[in-house]
Amino acid sequence: MAKKCLFIDRDGTLVKEAPPSYRIDSFSKLEFYPMVFQYMYKIAHEFNYELVMVTNQDGLGREEFPFEKFAPVHDFIIKSFENEEIIFSEILMDCTYPQEHKNTRKPGTGLLVHYLNNPEYDIARSFVIGDRVTDMQLAKNLNCKGFWLCNDETLGAAELTDAVKDIQASSVVLTSPHWKDIYTYLKKINH
Ligand SMILES: [Mg+2]
Repeated sequence: MAKKCLFIDRDGTLVKEAPPSYRIDSFSKLEFYPMVFQYMYKIAHEFNYELVMVTNQDGLGREEFPFEKFAPVHDFIIKSFENEEIIFSEILMDCTYPQEHKNTRKPGTGLLVHYLNNPEYDIARSFVIGDRVTDMQLAKNLNCKGFWLCNDETLGAAELTDAVKDIQASSVVLTSPHWKDIYTYLKKINH
């Protein structure tokens, strides 16, 4: 049976976003997403998905975001999930800026080509989980569906443009700020 994946964003999804810089470059900026361990544990153990982390880390490795400041916190995040028996089979990271227009940057699929057109994987039955519209665009570009972990209270009607509504209609199966809702959805389709 073909393998299915959950392509999971990091910032805003597994851990909280850290405005205004959005760079989690110190432990004081680290806060895990509420209930993420409890429900990721159930998702990892009750269903049969490979867990693949896909994250944009703008400018990582450059002067404004040195790798030495990123790595200790990132390693701590991964270790914390591992300690709860939540293991990512692959961690994919793009370090470019939006203005560089690289296809490796979400919503581009450049980092995921080895899953696409690979008969071992059933991408249509895989999901993207993320907090940004770009994560849901990634789902659309992969031809799978998305769980929009939408936790931005400021996202009002003005941000819900026709383009966003189109993506929501075509590619998003659930919009919720709660990990519990993602688990419940997966349980329903994997009984
Ligand atoms: Mg995010």
